[in-house]
Amino acid sequence: MPAMSKEIGDQPSREGATDRQLIRALQQGLPIADIRTGEQVGCGNCSGACCRAGMVISLRPEERAQMEEVGTQMEPYTDIPLRPGSSIKFFTLQSDCGNLGQKGECLIYAKRPVACRSFQEQSWGCLQVRQVAGFTHTVGTNENPPPQARPVEISPRTSKGK
Ligand code: SF4
Ligand code: SF4
Repeated sequence: MPAMSKEIGDQPSREGATDRQLIRALQQGLPIADIRTGEQVGCGNCSGACCRAGMVISLRPEERAQMEEVGTQMEPYTDIPLRPGSSIKFFTLQSDCGNLGQKGECLIYAKRPVACRSFQEQSWGCLQVRQVAGFTHTVGTNENPPPQARPVEISPRTSKGK
């Protein structure tokens, strides 16, 4: 077993893994789970933490128009576009996304904005917004998954980043 895995530990503290431990776990491909349920991090057990008020998202004009049509409130985050001359700009969600279903699913999954497609579950950004939403994470090792950890079926419909 690599020394790093031992340092992370297979007996996570009740307070959850530190950011440093989470980053190392991501680098090493170690399992990361919700400390309350033991379920591995995934869109299927998240309720759309990255689709909630407070998120900053880059949008094309037509993507912004669609989101506003369904009642999403947003404000410009900055006037600076994604790239010089680009029509893609950053916005802060002032409300939860109007495309978010009651079970945390994306109601326009097949046509969701490019930014939503590129936001990967089990990425560092994902873990950060989940922490803001109140999730606490724990880390196991490849030999010893987090307590109660079990494979989670990630529905293509609810997976935001794939
Ligand atoms: S990408 Fe991460 S934060 Fe977004 S719904 Fe999936 S698990 Fe939750
Ligand atoms: S994935 Fe869907 S629900 Fe989430 S922010 Fe994007 S459009 Fe909205």
